[in-house]
Order: sequence, then structure tokens, then C-alpha cells
Amino acid sequence: MEQDLDKTASSPSESSSKKKKVCVIGAGISGLAAARELRREGLDVTVIEQNGGVGGQWLYDAAIDAGDPLGLAGVHSSMYASVRLNSPREIGGFSDFPFFPTGAGGDGRRYPVHGELLRFIRDFCDVFGLMDAVRLNTTVTRVAMDGSPSRWTVRSKHRDAAGDGEEVFDAVVVATGHYTQPRLPAIEGMDTWRRRHLHSHSYRVQDTFAGEVVVIVGCSVSGIELALELRRVAIEVHLSAKSIDDGLAPMMSKLLAARHKHGNIHLRPKVEHLHDDGTVVFDGGESVIADTIIYCTGYNYSFPFLDIDGKVTVDDNRVGPLFEHVFPPSLAPSLSFIGIPAKVILPRFVEMQASWVAQVVSGKRTLPSPEEMMRAVEEYNAARDAAGVPKRQTHAAFLDLEYHDEYGERVCGFPRMEDWRKELIRSSISDLLGDIETFRDDYHDSDLLGDSLRLLGWTTSRQ
Ligand SMILES: Cc1cc2nc3c(=O)[nH]c(=O)nc-3n(C[C@H](O)[C@H](O)[C@H](O)COP(=O)(O)OP(=O)(O)OC[C@H]3O[C@@H](n4cnc5c(N)ncnc54)[C@H](O)[C@@H]3O)c2cc1C
Repeated sequence: MEQDLDKTASSPSESSSKKKKVCVIGAGISGLAAARELRREGLDVTVIEQNGGVGGQWLYDAAIDAGDPLGLAGVHSSMYASVRLNSPREIGGFSDFPFFPTGAGGDGRRYPVHGELLRFIRDFCDVFGLMDAVRLNTTVTRVAMDGSPSRWTVRSKHRDAAGDGEEVFDAVVVATGHYTQPRLPAIEGMDTWRRRHLHSHSYRVQDTFAGEVVVIVGCSVSGIELALELRRVAIEVHLSAKSIDDGLAPMMSKLLAARHKHGNIHLRPKVEHLHDDGTVVFDGGESVIADTIIYCTGYNYSFPFLDIDGKVTVDDNRVGPLFEHVFPPSLAPSLSFIGIPAKVILPRFVEMQASWVAQVVSGKRTLPSPEEMMRAVEEYNAARDAAGVPKRQTHAAFLDLEYHDEYGERVCGFPRMEDWRKELIRSSISDLLGDIETFRDDYHDSDLLGDSLRLLGWTTSRQ
């Protein structure tokens, strides 16, 4: 497939915006997408990244903060060693830079191991020459307005430097991800639990769970995948769902009934309380003595570096106010956020956001007035509240493909998704819900989808 690598050549807005300095915080997929689009619009971009490499979540980090098993500080990545993507690679690239298998040494499967996506992100940086904009090993510690809403002071600390440095920018793009800060449940007895407990953020490998009785709290994709992994080494795994009839629990119940080899996984109701002798009591009164509890209970948004007088807050995981999940009305367009939406197709969604931000910051596209943006945020939130969507899911798009198309068209005239992509996404979700254990290797493309993929040059392997 041909790649359009030359969009930086001459942008209409280049001359007027040449000198604008933009700071992007974070060199994960969102920050790198932002860097490329901002450069295409002729802006002067600096990406500040706390880690020693690009990739964000996909830069696997074996460190687990042993002294802090609930993972409330420290390591960024929540990736564990055995992760394979749950989204097909054919929909996992940029609009002009597909996530093709590379052949030698790589993992050419549709759902590859996590290192394959890291390889792709690094290739993206190389091909688009982004690394010269990235400052590694540097943590942003404070972002504040420098007198006017279009000048920002960014304070940061390089790992080897004695103190912090400060720099002024015309705009700041926050792209720091949202799978790092554990969201912990409130369970009676958690504070006095004396045995091991950790959040999935701090899970890496199965070895230390050998011979244990493990309770996993949370029956979402990560809870189920950890249960299926740990059943191989643990004596028993008890997977506790908030509701046995809801979410993925019925699918898991069917899977357990069909697979006798999974006899050491038990689906349990909600955990009621913990005793410091190791007893875990479930709703209804049944109990087990556990060695370890793993909380697979999701993550919170967190922006500890923002010093902006409460103009953007996080309330039960609603980050706001943010117009279209990107611009805080009172600080737009010089402050923006990329990558806030959850349950979206990546990197497509952040590419749309990045393109919009770049066009707005460069002056090519304008935003509505702050009052209109504020009204739009309030209407959006009211509609979600009325539909019964919990506040903590304010930014969840639930893989709604029509919403993706409308969003991209609305904000920056992004082309709609091709039919073959939609078919692949739908069949992949249906495969996952059908059998979460085998969907990555056991899938069947329709003739039409198979032909489209071949025509477009896709040659994924099964093994
Ligand atoms: C276990 C797991 C499995 C997943 N599987 C999939 C999957 O199969 N498919 C999929 O599409 N998505 C998956 N995801 C979601 C994944 O998070 C996204 O694919 C992607 O990483 C989001 O990119 P991002 O750039 O928005 O955030 P991140 O990848 O989190 O990157 C944010 C970057 O910001 C940096 N940063 C943060 N704070 C600062 C600071 N103060 N100063 C400087 N730098 C900072 C971080 O170091 C990091 O590099 C998975 C996530 C997890 C945890």
C-alpha cells in the first residue's frame, strides 16, 4: 500500500504559524500522532516523555513497584508479559501508515504480541522523522498559564538533572494516557488485609502465583484473561463479577461450562468483605481462603501536573469541561487533550483528534465561541446522563462506528471508515464475545472481507 509521507511539504497555514511553539506531553500513540499532525501544519513541536523510549503503554516495563503493589505511583505501563492485542492489526494503523507485518523476526499474526505494536510505533517515528522532536527521560511536573491564555510555562525534570527546568510554549497538548492510575474498589476489610493484593496494573508474569488460591475482582476483559492465564499455575482462581447476569459474566459462565479443563476457575458474585485471616466472603455468604487478590477494576484519569485553577477537573472519571473530549472551552485552543476517549478504534480516533488540534492551533480551522463549546459539553453530558450512562463512562464510545465517522467528519473532515474495516471490527468483537480464549487464532473472514484484505496487500499469518 502506498504511503503518503509528504504531507509536511507545504501547508497553507505554514507561514502564519511557523514560529508557534507547541509542547506535547507524552510519546505514546496519542502524543506521536499529535506531533506528526502539528508538524504537518508547520508548527514547532517538542514532545516531552518521562520514559527512556517512545511507545507509552506498549513499552513493556518489567518493574512492578514491589513496595507499592496497588500501583498508585511510579511505573507507567500496565502491560503484562503475555499480552496479545485484542484488536486486529488491519484496523490498528494510521490512515496512511498501515500496521503491516514486517516478516523476519516479527509477529505476523492478526492479533500479535505487544512487542509488535511497539515495533510499529518506533517505525512510525522513524518514517516520519519524529525522534528529533522527542525529549526522553523527562517528566513534566507543572503546566501553568504564563500571564495570558496563549502562553504556557511547562516545568519538567530530566532524570539526570539536579533540578527542574522551565520553558514557555504557545500551546500545550496533553497526551498522557489513561491506563496507569489504578481505580480500586471500596471493599470492607481491604485496609487491614495482610496477604498479597495488587491491581492488574502491577501484574506482569504468572510465576509468583504458582500453587496459590487467587481471587480476581472484576470480570472484564482483563479479569477474564488473567483468570485464564493463572489457572495454569494456581490451585484455584475465583473470578468475582459485579453481577453474574451482566457484562461478560454470562459469556464466561458458558465458556467454563464447555471447558472441563478449566475446572479450577470459579465464577463468583461480588466480594462482600475481606477478613485479615485470608477469608474472602462473596455476596450470598460463600467464602474462600485466598493467598492473593488481584483487582481488575480499571483506571482513573489523572493530570497531577496541571496547575490551572480548577479549569479542568476529574470528577468520577469525567474530565471536564472538554469540548468534543479535546478542548477546555475557557483555555482553547492553546490547551488540548488527545486520547481521552475510551473504547475507541486506535490509532484512528487519536489521529482524527490530532489532525483537528493541529488545524485549530495553526489557525486553519476555528472553534465555536467558549459559550457555545460550554453549552455543547453540557448538552452532551445531559444526554449521556439521561441515557443512564454512568458518569465514569463519560468518555467511553463503546466502539460505536457510526459515532467514529460522525466525530471525524464533524471535527476535521476526516474520511469515513471503509466498509471492510467496519466488517472486520464487528466480526472481531463478535468473535471475542463468542470465545475470548480462542478468538485470536480461530477466526473466519467472509469471502468479501478476505478478498478486500488480499487486494489491499494484507498477508497475516495464523501461527
Ligand atoms: C494491558 C493493556 C492491553 C491493551 N490492549 C489494547 C489493544 O489490544 N488494542 C488497543 O487499541 N488498545 C489497547 N490498550 C490501550 C492502550 O492504552 C492504547 O492502545 C494506547 O497505549 C493509548 O496511547 P496513549 O498515547 O493515549 O497513552 P499511553 O500509551 O499511556 O502513553 C502516554 C505517554 O505519556 C507519558 N507520560 C505520562 N505522564 C507524563 C508526564 N508527566 N511527563 C512526561 N510524559 C508523561 C507516558 O510515559 C507515556 O509514554 C491496552 C492497554 C493495556 C493497559
